Amino acid sequence: MEKQQISEQISCFPAVQSPLSADVGVIQCADETWIFDVGSSEEAAAAINAIPGQKNVVLSHFHPDHTGNVDRVAYSALYAGAFTCRRFGRGITVDEHRYFENGIHLFPLPSSHAKGCVGLEYGDYAFLGDAIYSTMKDGKAVYNAGLLRELIAVLKSLHANWFLLSHRKPFVNPKAEVVAWLGEVYALRDPHTPYIFCG
Ligand SMILES: [Zn+2]
Repeated sequence: MEKQQISEQISCFPAVQSPLSADVGVIQCADETWIFDVGSSEEAAAAINAIPGQKNVVLSHFHPDHTGNVDRVAYSALYAGAFTCRRFGRGITVDEHRYFENGIHLFPLPSSHAKGCVGLEYGDYAFLGDAIYSTMKDGKAVYNAGLLRELIAVLKSLHANWFLLSHRKPFVNPKAEVVAWLGEVYALRDPHTPYIFCG
């Protein structure tokens, strides 16, 4: 599987469409490797297992294209949102900001896309999984206005200037562009309903 290098310490195995398998982020810290999402393809599992040394896994949310390989990969510790931990019967819950000595920062992301979304910030980069995307309701793309407001606040508070968005080309996006995009969606809200339909 072709690895895409993002910075000296950060790389990813890009998402594939069929079978749908999300991007796998790889953060090489001094004494261990952090994996953000494990994908669902055999190729992604093999690529993760080929990384030597101690590995910690973070699951961005419970959707199968991000988590399908969770039983196929070896890891030391697994971190995820409470909903994802319950779903898989394992893991250390990320229900508040967690800062590790090696610079890894995990945090919950209020998301319309899925319950229990988690992000990972390292240096100038933040992995956001699918958290900024909408969900489908009655065949339409929709955001929850309250969750979107909270999400924008969390994203603005991050120090990283680059946001890594699953399934998207380009994968690496300027923070300012992502915040502006979500701000435009939030501006479409109607005070009479919690839903913002778009697209
Ligand atoms: Zn998803």
